Formats: sequence, C-alpha cells, structure tokens
Amino acid sequence: MSLPIFLIGARGCGKTTVGELLAQALGYAFCDTDHYLQHSTGKTVAEIVAAEGWEGFRLRETDALIAVTAPETIIATGGGMVLAETNRRFMQQRGQVIWLQASATVLAARLAHYPQTSQRPTLTGRSITEEMAEILDERAGLYQQSAHHVIDAMQTPEQVVIQILSALSPAHA
Ligand code: ADP
Ligand code: MG
Repeated sequence: MSLPIFLIGARGCGKTTVGELLAQALGYAFCDTDHYLQHSTGKTVAEIVAAEGWEGFRLRETDALIAVTAPETIIATGGGMVLAETNRRFMQQRGQVIWLQASATVLAARLAHYPQTSQRPTLTGRSITEEMAEILDERAGLYQQSAHHVIDAMQTPEQVVIQILSALSPAHA
C-alpha cells in the first residue's frame, strides 16, 4: 500500500498544478481540499468564511483533509492547512508531506496572473507581494516542521515533479 502524498505551501506555490502532474506520473488519484470543500458544501471558500468566519472554515478544512486522505492519492491542501497542529500531525503520520517552497515575489507574480480575488477574501488592503511576504513569515516555520521533503517550486511544474519523485521514499518509486 502506497501512502498518500500531501502537498503543502502558500497559495500559488503550485499544489494543484504540480499535484495533478504528479498524480499522472505515479498513477495516483488527485484530490484538492479546497475543491472538496466547495463540492461538499456547495459554497466557495469566500462564502464559507463570510458565513462561518475563518474559524468555521478551518474546522471544515480539517474534516476535508480527513475525508480525502486515502492510499495512492496526491492531496493538494489549502495554504493554511498547516496552521492547525492536528492537521500537521495527521499529515505527518499518514503519509509523505512535501512543501513546495517559493518566494513571496514569485508567488505574487503568479497570483497576479489569475483573478483569485473572488475566491479568497484579502486580509488587508496592501499589495499582494507584501501580503505574501507576511504570510510566508508567519507560516514558513510551520511548513518546514510539517514537511518530510522541501522542494524548490520555482522551476517548471515538470521539473518540480521530477524533484519530488527523486525525493520520495522508495515506497513510491
Ligand atoms: P496552488 O494550488 O498552490 O494555489 P496553483 O497550482 O493553483 O497553486 O498555481 C497558481 C498559479 O501559478 C497558476 O496560474 C499556475 O498555472 C501557476 N503555476 C503553478 N506552478 C507553477 C510553476 N512551477 N511555474 C510557473 N507557474 C506555475
Ligand atoms: Mg490549489
């Protein structure tokens, strides 16, 4: 039985893009906790946050993580999944955790290319680069401590997949 692979990292680091490619490469299923939440609740992330606050969203996110976790599955997680200790422990114990690491500048440039504003409420009125830098400052330690492998996500998606495959334990080879 091959363990699930959890992709963690800030919004825009490529969890969905790389996750789908990695799933193809390994012949695994692909799941995205944000997509799962949208399908299971019929609401967007923004709508859940508006109705239940971030606290309500985080509780639902934990349920989503548990629901999608299965063998031979790549799981793209929401950028804030690591904030809860219970989520960090669950991922570490249940599978391989991979942090897709990218700088605030690269993340902001990627996010500027697609209109995500309707998906996620912005936390402040500041520039997206400033906001990403602050989020990374807050979360880098959590991503680091959660990850079995840290991968440079500032390469092409195909290169990122190759790096992940070589980092994974032989159980996935
Ligand atoms: P996440 O799921 O982590 O939020 P996505 O996979 O949705 O990130 O990617 C966010 C944006 O960045 C998309 O427009 C995607 O095409 C682009 N992107 C993702 N990975 C890369 C990469 N390695 N190089 C260049 N662009 C990328
Ligand atoms: Mg995604």
